[in-house]
Amino acid sequence: MTTEKGEQLRQQLIAAVVKKRAAIARAHEIVVRLLEPGIPEPEFLSLLCEIGPPNYSDIVDEREINKLCGYPLCSTVLENVPKQKYSISAAKNKVYDITERKKFCSGYCFKASEYIKSQVPTSPLWLRDRETRPSFQLLSRNT
Ligand SMILES: [Zn+2]
Repeated sequence: MTTEKGEQLRQQLIAAVVKKRAAIARAHEIVVRLLEPGIPEPEFLSLLCEIGPPNYSDIVDEREINKLCGYPLCSTVLENVPKQKYSISAAKNKVYDITERKKFCSGYCFKASEYIKSQVPTSPLWLRDRETRPSFQLLSRNT
């Protein structure tokens, strides 16, 4: 390998690291943005292709900590959140883990959020520019 080629590779490696860091920083910015109430739908949908599922989980968790419904398109304040981890249905004779469900104001928001999360791309953030942008679907209010 010539020195010139070595230098070229080194530059490529540096560029890749810079790109990776920028993509991670951008995803973090989006997480912070989506913690706010009143996010417009088009903005929400356009930001999803720049985050990964762990980022999305962070958004839901942080919103819950701030007493805001976990679904970024909902601005409902969480009140009377149950303290327990499980809910027992006497009718169905079943025990439910409500850890995730508690982060949302309603069953609809919980389902809509899970639906969006399942569409968030899992590929590395810094390789997204090579992919076609997915078109995200919101869960209809009528289902
Ligand atoms: Zn909600």
